[in-house]
Order: sequence, then structure tokens, then C-alpha cells
Amino acid sequence: MSLDTPSSACASPNSVTSRLHATQQHLQQALASAGRASDSAQLLAVSKTRPAEEIREAYNAGQRAFGENYMQDALGKQPSLEDLDIEWHFIGALQSNKTREAATHFDWVHTVDRVKIARRLDAQRPEGHAPLQICLQVNISRDPNKSGVLPEDAASVVEEILALPHLTLRGLMTIPAKAEDPSLRRAPFKALRELRDQLCQQFPDAPWDTLSMGMTADMDDAVAEGATIVRIGTAIFGERDYGTAH
Ligand SMILES: *Cc1c(COP(=O)(O)O)cnc(C)c1O
Repeated sequence: MSLDTPSSACASPNSVTSRLHATQQHLQQALASAGRASDSAQLLAVSKTRPAEEIREAYNAGQRAFGENYMQDALGKQPSLEDLDIEWHFIGALQSNKTREAATHFDWVHTVDRVKIARRLDAQRPEGHAPLQICLQVNISRDPNKSGVLPEDAASVVEEILALPHLTLRGLMTIPAKAEDPSLRRAPFKALRELRDQLCQQFPDAPWDTLSMGMTADMDDAVAEGATIVRIGTAIFGERDYGTAH
């Protein structure tokens, strides 16, 4: 590095590092506005379609938890990042034929939406691994195009999941339908929190410490309603190019 260019040591405004720091600050502001503790929600950096070098840059800037949606994309990047202590979260649609890879190569799965998938993840979690941390995905907006259990079916699925020894059910996850009216945007997040509170009464043995909700566009609303993990891609890595992802 040349002494003539001192600014080269600083993160340029569009670098992953500076975007990550701005996103962390944004999360802190959202927590403060909601009257919540600064450590009561964490940032999951959604790195789907982004190259391994950008994940490494975010890691070097302090980020540890990364979320991936596409199994081949994720498995292609993980080997080159093996020297890093990354916590990997699977947040994509999970088909039965991908559960073994999810159970083997991830620490968390946010998108468990049926008992069959939970049973397979449980059976396929390798010996010697800590239990797989999971969220039950809820279709809180009752959108026919979205996955997730309907709220009224959650309790019966939870009951079955709690019997599976290699899974730890941490809480609920949702991707709400987009509401045009800003005054309606918080409602689905509030509904997910209330469902969590209800399940927590009914099944006090699970931790229930996780509400995985909020993305770049709706992080503030989700944090205001109690999100503990916000899943943020675009704000950290920029707009995605889906050309080569899947
Ligand atoms: C892509 C994705 C995100 C991140 O979305 P951004 O709008 O880029 O922040 C979060 N959650 C899920 C399930 C996703 O698929």
C-alpha cells in the first residue's frame, strides 16, 4: 500500500464494509426507536448470489451470521470460506431432496414449513453436530403463493417438532405479503409475535427466543414488532444479479 494514497485504507461508500456498518447503525436506530435493548436483535447477512469474496469482506468487518437461499450456490462458496467461523443459516425454500445438505452444512434452517421436512432434518443431522437450530415458517398473510404453515396449524406442527431430538425449535419466521398501505405494514409482524407468545404459553419447553422477520424494505416495522433476527441482503451487498445463481 502506498503512503501517497491514505484514503485507500478507508472503506469506500459502496463497499460491503461501509454498507454493513450503515446497516448495523440502521438496526441500532430501529431498536432505540422501539425502546429495545441494543443487543436484542441481530443482523443476518443474506449473501445469496453474492461471491465468497464479499462474504469474506463482511466477515472481516465483523459479521458472523450469513443467510443463503440456494443450496448449490451456498455449497459452492462454503469450501473457500472454511477458515472462517461463520454461522450458516438456510433461508430458502427447502425441498425434501435438499434436507440432507441443509442438515449437514448449516447451523440454522429458518424455513421449516412441514413435519416431513423437520423429520428429515432430524434424521439427517450428522452425529456429533449440535442440534440444528430451526424456525417454523408461518404464512402469516395467508398468501396462496407463499410457503409456511397457516397460523391455525402451527400448534400441531410444533408439537411434532418438539419430539425430534436433533432439532431445537427457536421460534417463528415469516415473509409477509407486501402491503401498499404503510399503516398495514406492521400488522403481519405483530401477528407473528402474538402467535409466538401463544405457542410459548402452550409449549413452554421450547426457547421461543427467535422472531425471524424483516428484510431490507421492512426492517423498521419488523424491529418495532419484536424481530430478533432481521434478514438483510440488498442493504449490505447491493442489488442482486440473478443471472448465474440458479
Ligand atoms: C432474499 C431474502 C432476504 C433478503 O432480502 P433483501 O430485500 O435483499 O434484504 C431475506 N429473507 C429471505 C427469505 C430472502 O429470500
